[in-house]
Amino acid sequence: STFTYQFDTATYKGFSTLNTGLFIDGEFVDPVEKGTIDVVNPANGKFITQISAGTHLDIEIAVQAAKKAYKEHWGLKVSGDERAKLLHKLADLVEANADELGALEALNNGKTYHFARNIDVTACTKILRYYAGWADKIHGKTIQTKDDKLAYTRHEPIGVVGAIIPWNFPLVMLVCKIAPALATGNTIVLKPSELTPLSALRFCPLINEAGFPPGVVNVVNGFGHTVGQAIAENMTIGQVTFTGSTATGRKIMEAAAKSNLKPVSLELGGKSPSIFFDDVDVDQAVKWAALGVLQVTVHDSYCAYTDRLGSYNHGQVCFAGSRIYVHEKIYDEFINKFAEHARSLKLGDPFEPTTYQGPQVSQGQYDCIMGYIESGKQEGATLCTGGDRFGDEGYFINPTIFTDCKPHMKIVKEEIFGPVATVMKFSTEEEVIELANDTSYGLAGSVFTPNIDRALRVAHQLEAGTAWVNCLNTSEMGMPFGGFKQSGIGRELGEYALEHYTNVKAVHVNL
Ligand code: NAD
Repeated sequence: STFTYQFDTATYKGFSTLNTGLFIDGEFVDPVEKGTIDVVNPANGKFITQISAGTHLDIEIAVQAAKKAYKEHWGLKVSGDERAKLLHKLADLVEANADELGALEALNNGKTYHFARNIDVTACTKILRYYAGWADKIHGKTIQTKDDKLAYTRHEPIGVVGAIIPWNFPLVMLVCKIAPALATGNTIVLKPSELTPLSALRFCPLINEAGFPPGVVNVVNGFGHTVGQAIAENMTIGQVTFTGSTATGRKIMEAAAKSNLKPVSLELGGKSPSIFFDDVDVDQAVKWAALGVLQVTVHDSYCAYTDRLGSYNHGQVCFAGSRIYVHEKIYDEFINKFAEHARSLKLGDPFEPTTYQGPQVSQGQYDCIMGYIESGKQEGATLCTGGDRFGDEGYFINPTIFTDCKPHMKIVKEEIFGPVATVMKFSTEEEVIELANDTSYGLAGSVFTPNIDRALRVAHQLEAGTAWVNCLNTSEMGMPFGGFKQSGIGRELGEYALEHYTNVKAVHVNL
C-alpha cells in the first residue's frame, strides 16, 4: 500500500507518494504474515499512516536475498571504484530529494524541518560521500618475512550485515550503517525504529535509482522484539551493528552470543557532562549548555562554530550534555541566564521556521521524561524552570532545568533522553573530574575554559569516547564516534568504522 503526503514546506504544494511495504530484494513487498505499525505525528498526536511490519519470516527472506546478492552481484565481484560510484550517485539522489526527506523526518520525528533538511540530510550526503571515498582504499598489508615467503593480509567483506537503528536520527543512523557496509562490499538487512519508519521508506527507491543491485540493501520495518531480535539471532548474518539504548544493546549481544557468535558493534546511551569553569563568558556558556540538551535548532549567529555543529535534538541525543557542572563563582549568574535562555526558546510546529524546539517523539517518550521530572522533584532537586507540558496537543515539554542536583539522584544518574538539564556546582578541577566520571556511561563530555592547559588536562581525564573543548556536539566525518564503559563497543564514522565491516585474512605463500 502507499501513503501520499505533502512535502514542499515553502509552498505546501508538493505531494509525493510513499510505498509502505517491506523493501526486500529491490522491491516493496507485503510481509509474510499480516502485520502493521501505526505511524503518529508527534506534533499533534494524530495518526499519519499505517505501514507494514515484518516478522522473523521476512528477515529470513531478506537475509537470503542479501546473501544471494552478495555472492552474485556484490562483495568481491564489484570493484571499489564501482561501489564508490554507486555511493556517490546515492548521495546525489539524497541531495536532490533533500526537501522531501527533511519534511518526512520532521513530520515523523518532530525535529524541526530546518534541522532535518539542513543538518540531518546534509550529514547523510556527507557520510555517503566520505565512505564512497574509502570504497577503493580497503587495503591489506604485505608483511616482511625473514625467509623467502610471501605474507600479506586482505580485508574481506563479512557478507551479510544486520543493522538496527533508533528513532532520534532515523536517516542519519540509516546512512551511518549503510555507507560503510556497502563501501567495504557487504550487503545489509536493516531495521528502522518502529516509531520513525517514514524517511527510510522514502530512501529505499533511491537505492534502486542509484543502481545498486537488488538485495544489496534490504529494509525491513517491524518491532524490536520480533524483527530486531530475528536480526540479532540470525545464523547467516555475520555481524550486527546496533544503535540504541544500553538495555537493548545488552539483549542484542546476548542473542548474538547465543546464536552464531557474530561480532556486534554497539552505539548506546549516555549521560554526558558539560563542565564550565569560572573563566568562561557566561552568556556564551548558557547557549552551549542549552545546545547540549534543550533545543533542536539554532538560527544564525547563535554562537561560535554553529556552522560546524552536529546533532542537537532537544535532549533526544545519545551524547546530550545532560549533567552540567558549573564553577561556584559563576553558578548563580549561570543559573539565572540559563533559565532565562530556556524560557526564551520557542516551541511549536516543527515546520515553522522560527521554532527552536519541536515535540518529543512519542507518547511513551513524553511519559518517560515526565516520570523523570517527577522523580527529580521528589528527590529534592529544585525545579528552576519548565517541567510541564507545552500547548494542548502533541508531545511538547517545556525546556526544563533542575538545580541543586546531587550525584545519587535518578535524574543525574539515568539517561532521560529529553530536554531536561541537571545543574550542579563544583569548586575544584579534581572534584569536577571525579563527578563527571561518576557514571556508568562514557559517550562524551565537554569542558569550557579559555585556559588551554586546564582544558586539555580535563579532556584527557574524561572517561568518554569523545571530549569536546570549548564546544559540544561537533563531529567530523573522519573522527571516530563511540563510547567508553556502558556507552558501547566499537566506533562509528571515520576509518575506525571500517574495522567492523571487514574480516582480516592472513595469507601465507610458500614461494
Ligand atoms: P531502543 O534501544 O529502544 O531501540 C533501538 C532499536 O532497537 C529500535 O529499532 C528497536 O525496535 C530495536 N529493539 C528493541 N528491542 C529489541 C530487541 N530485543 N532486539 C533487537 N532490537 C530491538 O532505543 P531508542 O529508544 O530507539 O533510542 C534511544 C536510545 O538510543 C537512547 O538510549 C540513546 O542514547 C541511544 N542512541 C545512541 C546513539 C549512539 O550513537 N551512541 C545514537 C542515537 C541513540
